[in-house]
Amino acid sequence: MRITIDTNVCIGAGQCALTAPSVFTQDDEGFSALLPGREDGGGDPLVREAVRACPVGAIKITEE
Ligand code: SF4
Repeated sequence: MRITIDTNVCIGAGQCALTAPSVFTQDDEGFSALLPGREDGGGDPLVREAVRACPVGAIKITEE
């Protein structure tokens, strides 16, 4: 699994970081960012919940 965040789409709602705090954080401007080493989701099942929780569909998962 590889997670990508479209920062052009992200509105900084923070739902991803609330839903899966072991994978997502927010940068200084409030936009979503992946925690270091968690680009593959780290096996956290909450990643898929975070994708659903994002109100603008900014998070994409690609299976490798
Ligand atoms: S939930 Fe979506 S819009 Fe909100 S910070 Fe995360 S990626 Fe950005």
